[in-house]
Amino acid sequence: MGYTLEPIGIVHSCFREKFAIPRQPQLAPAATGTLELFAPYNRAEALAGLEQVSHLWLLFIFHAADSGPEHLRVRPPRLGGNQRIGVFASRATHRPNPLGQSVVRLDGIAEGKLLLSGLDLLDGTPVLDIKPYVPYADSLPDAHNGLAPAPPAAITVEWSAVAYSQAQQHAARLQSDVAGLIEQCLAQDPKPAYQQPGPEREYGVRFWDLNLRWHYPAPDRIRVIDIQLADIRT
Ligand code: SAH
Repeated sequence: MGYTLEPIGIVHSCFREKFAIPRQPQLAPAATGTLELFAPYNRAEALAGLEQVSHLWLLFIFHAADSGPEHLRVRPPRLGGNQRIGVFASRATHRPNPLGQSVVRLDGIAEGKLLLSGLDLLDGTPVLDIKPYVPYADSLPDAHNGLAPAPPAAITVEWSAVAYSQAQQHAARLQSDVAGLIEQCLAQDPKPAYQQPGPEREYGVRFWDLNLRWHYPAPDRIRVIDIQLADIRT
């Protein structure tokens, strides 16, 4: 028995590659994007009432991850990347069906587009459905999860003088909190848990049309080296 699902829209987000995307929504409030709704879902009648809602559940496709019945056990980064648990005990992207869910903030509605923040979604993610967050039913103060008992510990993020002024310039151009985005995402320490880089090793990622580079002057500290316009602009 199979079902056919058609996307109702597509996400345009600051995240242009999977690396350095926070592992859950809300960890980076400055991670913004838009959900472009496809016709006929971009019509005002489909969106009426949404202005009364602060947050949304997005149900989406992990379009850039493998999925299928072979994914029974996963090694979540949260557990250091070396302990295996069942796929259904994790939010891993490699799952029987490539279905993801994220609670995101709805900042506005403009011309058939939803303006969103707190994203953990790759640019180009197809969205299957949108549901309003319902605090009385969806927020459970007594709930516990022994595998992920608290938000991941944040690492210190420092800036070189040049990188900070580049962040301010690009923030003005993009009308977006570039420094906040970088700090919030790097504070999650994106590198794989098994890597212990020396200070000479550089890492990089692309946010929006920017290539950003950083290194670890000490194991518990990140320093942003610089921010350059990416060669290919999309
Ligand atoms: N909140 C979601 C996603 C958790 S996994 C859920 O619980 O279902 C979060 C990771 O998904 C991010 O670190 C990012 O690298 C990855 N990701 C985001 N969008 C993706 C996509 N469209 N395809 C594949 N992986 C994606």
